[in-house]
Amino acid sequence: MSDYILETQGLTKEFAGFSAVSDVNLQVRRHTIHALIGPNGAGKTTCFNLLTKFLHPSKGKIIYNGQDITAMKPADVARLGLVRSFQISAVFPNLTALENVRVALQREHGESFDFWRSKSVLNRFNERARALLDDVGLSAFEDIRAAEMPYGRKRALEIATTLALEPEMMLLDEPMAGMGHEDIDKIATLIKSIAANHTILMVEHNLNVVSNLSDKITVLTRGQILAEGDYATLTQDERVKEAYLGA
Ligand code: ADP
Repeated sequence: MSDYILETQGLTKEFAGFSAVSDVNLQVRRHTIHALIGPNGAGKTTCFNLLTKFLHPSKGKIIYNGQDITAMKPADVARLGLVRSFQISAVFPNLTALENVRVALQREHGESFDFWRSKSVLNRFNERARALLDDVGLSAFEDIRAAEMPYGRKRALEIATTLALEPEMMLLDEPMAGMGHEDIDKIATLIKSIAANHTILMVEHNLNVVSNLSDKITVLTRGQILAEGDYATLTQDERVKEAYLGA
């Protein structure tokens, strides 16, 4: 088996002749935290959308666990274990934390709404949902509606609903966006614990977070890979300093 869980070969996305992502060869090693960074407009979001098949590439291939997934539908990619953590809008505001995770579990297991009638099935899903809430440090929020949860806790809930899909690899889109120090520390600890048995690829703007968490960093500029390596190496790279870290 390849060391790499995810690889792209010449990945390219053009919008009306403009290359948002251009000839990107990304290699994500199994059981690592890999960060994708770069200035605004570098192509990070487009890359994520290509990897999860929300966009179809103009050219190139995406290989996941040795399998060419380039032509697959998003749901099939998710079924293979490559799952993106969605934005908060995907968490149902009027459901409690427990209900949100239970709905995600229900979706994953293809249960029809009829199952609510069965107490034993409901209990089984509740039990699993509670375990997931515990994993992300949200046990105390079980009966709180998502709308009433603090921002950082909502992000943790979003991660719990993603974990409900039993991913092998998680794509995290700016997991620390808009957070204060305390929440950042909590989510960083959570990501580290998840990384013990998952592979994580994340887009993140907070360079402190990136330096603390990442095993490898890929710097994108203008749709292309500018440099790759660990944080210490990249901070010594003149091209990176100039293009991105120079600030
Ligand atoms: P990042 O996430 O790094 O900020 P994006 O992937 O969002 O970068 O965007 C990369 C470039 O592609 C930007 O110049 C953006 O304007 C352009 N772009 C992204 N999506 C579209 C689209 N649907 N149509 C046209 N241009 C797009």
